Formats: sequence, structure tokens, C-alpha cells
Amino acid sequence: MTQTSPALPSLNDIISCISGYDPGAMTVTQAQAIIHDFIRPIEAVEKLAIRSALSRVLAQDIVSRIDVPAHDNSAMDGYALRGEDVTAGQEVRLQIVGAVHAGASFAGEVLSGQCVRIMTGAPMPAGCDTVIPQELTVDAGEHVVTLPAGRVRPGDNRRLRGEDLAKDSVALPRGRRLRPSDIGLLASLGIPEVAVQRRLRVAFFSTGDELRSVGEPLDPGCVYDSNRYTLHGMLTRLGCDVIDMGVVGDDPAALEAAFRSACEEADAVITSGGVSVGTADYTKQIMASLGEMMFWKIAMRPGRPLAFGRIASRGRDAYLFGLPGNPVAVTVSFSFFVRDALLRLAGAEPKPLPRLRVKTAAPIRKKTGRTEYQRGILAPGEDGAWTVRLTGTQGSGILRSMSDANCIIELEHERGDVAAGEDVSIVVFDGLI
Ligand code: AMP
Ligand code: MG
Repeated sequence: MTQTSPALPSLNDIISCISGYDPGAMTVTQAQAIIHDFIRPIEAVEKLAIRSALSRVLAQDIVSRIDVPAHDNSAMDGYALRGEDVTAGQEVRLQIVGAVHAGASFAGEVLSGQCVRIMTGAPMPAGCDTVIPQELTVDAGEHVVTLPAGRVRPGDNRRLRGEDLAKDSVALPRGRRLRPSDIGLLASLGIPEVAVQRRLRVAFFSTGDELRSVGEPLDPGCVYDSNRYTLHGMLTRLGCDVIDMGVVGDDPAALEAAFRSACEEADAVITSGGVSVGTADYTKQIMASLGEMMFWKIAMRPGRPLAFGRIASRGRDAYLFGLPGNPVAVTVSFSFFVRDALLRLAGAEPKPLPRLRVKTAAPIRKKTGRTEYQRGILAPGEDGAWTVRLTGTQGSGILRSMSDANCIIELEHERGDVAAGEDVSIVVFDGLI
């Protein structure tokens, strides 16, 4: 999809800077770093109405042209007064000289000994810097109100002009993936539309003669293709335009045609299957013939094999991620390699996903010298403290272990067996909004 650009670094340039590079024994962090350095963000930008910009990546800094709020205003329903009239340890009686509602303003100035009835959000009248909430007053009549001693200090319950956002400050930075509250923030600045990066186009297909698509009969020895459906879901959540190219069998001509057409249509191509060690099919061969590809064995489980690089066809090129075929490995490899890469390609500099440290409810077997991503259920224990336990059998073909999980337990490279009650790092699947 992207036009080939001579300015892009080659993968060989990048790996030549890494000491001890060994494609047959990569660590997770090494692979992540190479992918990060190789990916160059797309540059196409479009303007969108802010409601349509949810989950899109901002293409430029948003600078506030106004102070928000535009004026000092009341945080409570009550009475606005001069802070100097509040005398410590003494009750005060003030004359009520008017009222001001949100959206209006009080014309006169408030003198010492006076106050104005005020509603939440209404601008502070001239001379006032303090609001006493209505419920803290006594004997409020039409003309006079009493402030009991010690209920309010000067400056209380006043929101300051510009305290939310000061004029000329950066309200949202370029590269931000817009969340609902960001859309609200844009509206609070009076901004109706914003420049965002165009959506990524991501093509994907499954490889393997044994795969059948839903709706087809399951022939002997065959399995239903689940990876395309999982990938479809993950890519959709990430905000990509998806191009589902179906199942491609182990046939060189069909594979080459699929890779070429994916590369011509999309910014990134994701395949599953055919990249394992000892795999006899043509997938790796065709990938390598179309561009610069690395075939890695990563010290991790699941997801040991990973193909990564860039392929080209008819003047177009695309990043290519060749994921293993096992369904759990697809989800893990996508989550810990492809996700960040696609965010970076989309113009959003990805931040590390939050890790929580929680105690494991039961022992976990773990080999040193590889990162393991086990599927966990995070839940409150009997004492109310949140603990994590495995979802059950952790085989990389057992998709149910992923479906039952609400988090991934990330067991570090150097770590060995984990005893019950030890802290482990987890990444939770679902967020608040
Ligand atoms: P491979 O990486 O091609 O050797 O595949 C490893 C295992 O994953 C094999 O058991 C495949 O049948 C299975 N597999 C490969 N692709 C898919 C898919 N798209 N959906 C479900 N299982 C798959
Ligand atoms: Mg296969």
C-alpha cells in the first residue's frame, strides 16, 4: 500500500547494530526493539468531526485558544462574597444584593458586607473570591444571610479561570489515540473537527491445507480456521480497516498471489501458520522472495516462531508479520509484537501496557530462559484481595485457555517456577472505557 521510500532503513541496517544478534535465539525485548526501529509511521492525514474521531490518532497538537473555564466561577450553589469579610471565629451577617445563574453574569460590584446568591458554574461577581455553600448558611432570607463561624475560608469553592486549560497550552498532543474524555475536552475548547491519521489498512489470511472456514463442512483431518476471526476482532478493536483474505492453502502460486495482493492493498499484512521450524510448506519461501524478511525463534512461550519484515509488489510495500498457526500463539504474538507495531505505524507512539503485580493463588511451572505468557483469571480471593490463577491447560493450541482468561500472566525471561503466594506481573484485557 505504502509507496516504497528509499529513506527507510533496512532490517539488516538495524540488526547490524545489535551485538550478539541471533535469529535463532532472540529475546522478546530484542524482537520488540527491532520491530519498533523498523516501523515508520504513515503520514496521510484527514479531517474529522470530533465525534467521528474517537479512537483515532491525532495528527497535530491541539492548542487551546481559550481559557477553560473562561472566567472564575462557583463550584457550589450558595452565596458569593468577599473573602476578607470572613472573620475567623465569628459569625457574619451579609446583605444579599442579587442573584446570578450559570450562563448569566452579575452586573454590579459586591461591596464589603454584601453577597450574591450564586449557582454552580455562574461567573463570580466582581469583588467576590469565595463561595459559601447554601447548606452551610443559616437564616437565609430574601435580603440577609448568616454565615456561622468557621464554615468557609477565603478562596473556597471558587473555580479559577483557565484551571482546566490555560489559553495557548497544549491540550492534547499529536499521537494521542482519542478517548471519550478527549472528545469531550475538544468540545470544551469549542473545536468542531480535528486532523487525524488515516486508518491503517491491514490485510490478513490464514495458511494451511487443513483449514476450513466456518460454513464449510469439516473434512476428515481438518480444523476450522479460528485465527482469522480472532485477528479480525483484535484489529477491529485497534481501529484498523481490515481486509480478510480468507484461507490460502499450501500452494506456491496461490500464496504468492495472496501476499502480492495483500501488500498492494494494505499497510500491513498478517498471516498465521507456516512459519514454524521444520514446517514443510511454502509460506516462508514466498515471504522471503518478496522482500526483506527475518525468521526468528523467540525465547518465549507460546509464540516461538515469528516472521517479520517488509515485502513489496508493483511499487507498493507493506510490513509483514508471519505469526505461528497455533491459536493461542496468534493472540499472544499479536498482543506483544503486532499491537505496538501497528500503533506506531498508525502514528501513535505506544506506551507500555500497564502491568499489575498480584499474588498467584497456586504454583506455576515456568522454565528459565524464556518469557512465558500464561492465561490467567484475576479475581478476589476469600480475604477480598485480588489474586490470579491459571485458566487450566495452557497448551498453545487450546484457545479456550484464552477465552476463559481475563488477563495474561507475564513470567519474566529469567524466572523459574513460581510458588503459590508469589507476586507475578499481569496485563489485564479490559479497561474502564
Ligand atoms: P503451523 O504453525 O502452520 O505449523 O500450525 C500449527 C498448528 O496450528 C497446527 O495444528 C494448525 O492446524 C493450527 N492452525 C494453523 N492455522 C490455524 C488457524 N487459522 N486456525 C486454527 N488453527 C490453526
Ligand atoms: Mg500450517
